[in-house]
Amino acid sequence: MNIIEVRNVFYRYNEKDQAVNDVSFEIKKGDFVCLLGHNGSGKSTLAKLLVGLLKANSGSIDIDGIRLDESTVDELRKKIGIVFQNPDNQFVGVTVKDDIAFGLENRLVEHEEMLKRIDHYSKLVSMDQFMDYNPEDLSGGEKQRVAIAGILACNPEVIIFDEATSMLDPKGKREIKQLIKDIHEQNKVTVISITHDIEEVVGSDYVYVLNKGEIAMFGKP
Ligand code: ADP
Ligand code: MG
Repeated sequence: MNIIEVRNVFYRYNEKDQAVNDVSFEIKKGDFVCLLGHNGSGKSTLAKLLVGLLKANSGSIDIDGIRLDESTVDELRKKIGIVFQNPDNQFVGVTVKDDIAFGLENRLVEHEEMLKRIDHYSKLVSMDQFMDYNPEDLSGGEKQRVAIAGILACNPEVIIFDEATSMLDPKGKREIKQLIKDIHEQNKVTVISITHDIEEVVGSDYVYVLNKGEIAMFGKP
C-alpha cells in the first residue's frame, strides 16, 4: 500500500524558476526512502509541499489515501512530520518538556495521555534527563532528539528528515542516524530522508534523485 502518492506536482516561488516541476512518485508504507540532489534542486520545497507548509500550484498529493488540501491539512499533519536541518529553528517551548508537549496540545490530546507519551518518547530518544532544560542550552544533537520526540509523540505514519544531521558534529550525526534507523525499524514509521550521507543511502529501500525540480533518477540504492 502507498502511504504517499504524488501526481504531477508543480510549484514556483516566483516567475523565474520552477522549483518543483511535474514531480510524480509514490512511497510504500514502511519504506525508508532517500531523496538526493544538489543544493537548489527542490528537495526542501518538495518536503514542505508534502507536509502542507506550501501549497502546490497544480497536481495532487495523497497521504494515507487522503487528498491533501485546505480541508484535510490539519488532519494530515498528524500523519506526517518533518525535522529540519537547523535544530535552532524548531523550538517553541521554554523547556524540553513544553516543547515535546506543544504538538500534542495542538492536537488536543488529553492531559494524562499527553504525560504518558512525553515520558515514553523522551526516554526513547534518551532525553528524559533533560525535561526541565531550556532547549537553547542543549547541543545540536540533543536538540534534534527533542524535535524527533515531539514528532514521534504525535504518532505519525511518516517522518521527513530534511538534512537533519547536516549541522551536527560527527558524534551527533552518528547518534541521530542510528536513532532514525531504530525508529524506522521498531516503530514501523515510513522515513523520507533528504541527505548527502552515503551510508544512509546504501541502507535505504529506495532512492529518488531530484535535479532542477524534476525527478532525474529513481531506483534501489
Ligand atoms: P534544496 O532543498 O534541494 O536545496 P530548495 O527546495 O530549497 O532546494 O530550493 C529549490 C529552488 O527554489 C531554488 O532555486 C531556491 O533558490 C528556490 N527557493 C527556495 N526557497 C525559496 C523562497 N523562500 N523564495 C524564493 N525562492 C526559493
Ligand atoms: Mg534543502
